[in-house]
Amino acid sequence: SQDFQQLKYETLKHFWGYDSFRDSQEGIIDAVLYEKDTLALLPTGAGKSLCYQLPALLKEGVCLVISPLLALMKDQVNQLKFNQIEAEYLSSELDEFDSEVIYNRCKDGLTKLLYVSPERLTNKQFLQNIEEIQLSFIAVDEAHCISEWGQDFRPSYQNIKEFRRNNPEIACLALTATATPKVLEEIKTKLELKNPTIFQKSFKRENIKIFTEEVSDKYQRILNILKYATKSGIVYVRTRKEAEQLTEFLHKNNLQNVDFFHAGLTTKEKNTRQNFWNNSAQNVLISTNAFGMGIDKDNVRFVIHFSPSPSIENYYQEIGRAGRDGKKSFAFLLWNKQELVNFDQILKNQIPNKEEFLKIISYLYSIFQVAEFELPEKVFQLNMTGIQNFTKLSKAKINNVLTFLHNQEIIYFNDNKSLSSIELL
Ligand code: ADP
Ligand code: MG
Repeated sequence: SQDFQQLKYETLKHFWGYDSFRDSQEGIIDAVLYEKDTLALLPTGAGKSLCYQLPALLKEGVCLVISPLLALMKDQVNQLKFNQIEAEYLSSELDEFDSEVIYNRCKDGLTKLLYVSPERLTNKQFLQNIEEIQLSFIAVDEAHCISEWGQDFRPSYQNIKEFRRNNPEIACLALTATATPKVLEEIKTKLELKNPTIFQKSFKRENIKIFTEEVSDKYQRILNILKYATKSGIVYVRTRKEAEQLTEFLHKNNLQNVDFFHAGLTTKEKNTRQNFWNNSAQNVLISTNAFGMGIDKDNVRFVIHFSPSPSIENYYQEIGRAGRDGKKSFAFLLWNKQELVNFDQILKNQIPNKEEFLKIISYLYSIFQVAEFELPEKVFQLNMTGIQNFTKLSKAKINNVLTFLHNQEIIYFNDNKSLSSIELL
């Protein structure tokens, strides 16, 4: 193990040219090297691939990588080969001869990583060949595909369980960017991870302060906020019509640095508006969720939600467009009582008991009352008794919901371990 420590860094430098690991990478790599089942929950772009590619080089045998898409496999294998690493993928596009060559290279211990689709795990020829191949460990990429709760559900991920049962001594590393408790639980059980070491990088955006506010006249409220806002931001609305009407209202009230954006615009109009906004330090776009993908603007100081997003994940993505430069930024969610009903829709598929969830949310909202734009940091102390008195629910149920919200990073806990005293920002 002493040897691994130095080898890790040498290998990182030699094959990837990097000098250091990112946040959680080293811990995950260590867990894999010590043959433990491991679950890695890291946001997209965090560098999950390296977490199995590097140990694959250090360990004896072939690392079997299970990946949901051929395009992903090809990409990764090309990249690895470019870095002089012996990697291959199997696909039905390959003829028998090519597959044979790959199997032989694996048997001879030349190939270090073998990428396959989950479907292949039941292929007879594959299973026969794998018997003669020494596997180092199994890496399950995009492990949330095993979850029936998500959009990426792939029934064939169920094959992994059977494969693992037939190869019980081989450790497994599951990787995903999805971190809802429900999905996490499903990954653990369906992959039969034994006592897994779990690595979860915080999805928290420390520099974004989230405020929610009950508002009856939203037009007036947004006008007031924007009148004093001197920085660039986004106002998310739900419909094209809302985008246009709100913009018109703001123009009429002498706010000229705003424009609307939605999917009904021509590509040319969209580009013009996005470019204009991109290059400005104080423009505001009133937009549907058509505006989002590929936003690469540093100095977005605020994101206002005219009404709640269709899902908590969407909400997280949308407010995430603020403060990419790391500077203090604000998110405002405007809501009213009628809209809380819409949460019914939102919470479908997320928490089994919607009514209970709603009660807790509405309680949390009721204490999130914020009056002014440039607020001094305000801290709310919440306690379990308060929520219990309000909702008449059991501690366990409340905990459940709070944990869910916490994992969505909508609510910032002061102390991860104690749910009895929570600090909301
Ligand atoms: P994920 O699968 O978590 O979305 P990837 O594995 O695709 O992320 O990695 C994202 C990018 O980060 C890649 O370009 C990769 O080369 C880079 N990267 C990974 N680890 C490091 C590191 N230790 N130092 C610098 N760049 C890294
Ligand atoms: Mg990845």
